[in-house]
Amino acid sequence: MLGELTEEQIVHVLSTNVIGRIGCYADEKSYVVPVAYLYDDGCLLGHTIRGMKTRMLEKNPKCCFETHGLDPLHKLEAMHLKATVYRIKIEEKTGRFEKR
Ligand SMILES: Cc1cc2nc3c(=O)[nH]c(=O)nc-3n(C[C@H](O)[C@H](O)[C@H](O)COP(=O)(O)OP(=O)(O)OC[C@H]3O[C@@H](n4cnc5c(N)ncnc54)[C@H](O)[C@@H]3O)c2cc1C
Repeated sequence: MLGELTEEQIVHVLSTNVIGRIGCYADEKSYVVPVAYLYDDGCLLGHTIRGMKTRMLEKNPKCCFETHGLDPLHKLEAMHLKATVYRIKIEEKTGRFEKR
């Protein structure tokens, strides 16, 4: 079943997760990157070095943030609902990896 979270539930999801994605927009470009964070009293705290993300956020501080605590079974159920199908044509791809 799909539904809307209450304010209290949203705070719960934010405060029980530590990985999210910041979505930035500047110079007609959207940019989404995963980051580690901590939720603290209505704020998201993170750390980073300077790069594309900080440059875009300085130009346009209005960003969005996503995290989730979704049960994979619920995700499958949701995919069986009648829904609008959409297609995103990928114009540019980047990727990063971490070596230990
Ligand atoms: C689980 C997880 C947690 C992370 N937590 C943090 C964190 O707490 N703090 C932090 O600073 N970074 C974190 N990172 C790394 C983060 O996602 C970025 O790669 C990093 O912050 C550099 O971003 P930037 O905008 O400064 O990139 P820049 O070094 O300026 O590079 C910009 C270019 O690299 C590409 N790029 C950068 N990052 C990615 C990416 N992840 N995937 C695909 N393309 C990418 C961009 O599209 C662009 O082309 C985390 C990554 C993962 C997977």
